[in-house]
Amino acid sequence: MPARSVPSSVHPDIERVLLDESAIKARIKELGRQISQDYAGRKLTLVGILKGSIVFMGDLMRSIAAECTIDFMAVSSYDGVSSTGVVRLNLDLRESAEGKDLLIVEDVVDTGLTLHYLLDNLRSRNPRSVEVCALLDKPDCRKAQVRAKYVGFSIPNEFVVGFGLDYNELYRNLPYVGILKKEKQAS
Ligand code: 5GP
Repeated sequence: MPARSVPSSVHPDIERVLLDESAIKARIKELGRQISQDYAGRKLTLVGILKGSIVFMGDLMRSIAAECTIDFMAVSSYDGVSSTGVVRLNLDLRESAEGKDLLIVEDVVDTGLTLHYLLDNLRSRNPRSVEVCALLDKPDCRKAQVRAKYVGFSIPNEFVVGFGLDYNELYRNLPYVGILKKEKQAS
């Protein structure tokens, strides 16, 4: 069977690749090792935040040796390239969070408002613990005081796409994280 061909060139709408696929995958393996050690002997529930976390979640869960289940939430606060500051819950967990060790899996922490909302919301359901694992962190952009225990990469204040992150629902399938060209951003 011929090898599956994967596009190797950079998408024309991308200004610059910030993190290539091999660097991301290597870092996710490290995160998985760390999480496996920290949760050894416990049952972990990964809470993927749709849709941006899906690619990260798929790789992360395969790097975790601890027993784990998955569930999802969907929230929205972004309009194009900017946060509206108002977080809305669009999809809730299927299972009860009570007594569980929850690990929120996020694509990127920017202002921190989404995470602040999610942490408040999930803590009110009496879980055993709630921690956060984010692929990307933009620490310069914080408006709410939140901290992810596990972070893949700290990045500068740029609008990035790829590896699950979108702009108007596009670019999620790019296998790397790249800065979107300014002329492609409507606002
Ligand atoms: P926050 O509430 O921390 O400002 O933003 C969290 C959400 O905003 C992320 O889960 C993501 O959906 C979106 N977001 C923040 N920064 C970026 C970015 O650089 N690129 C993309 N595609 N989404 C972002």
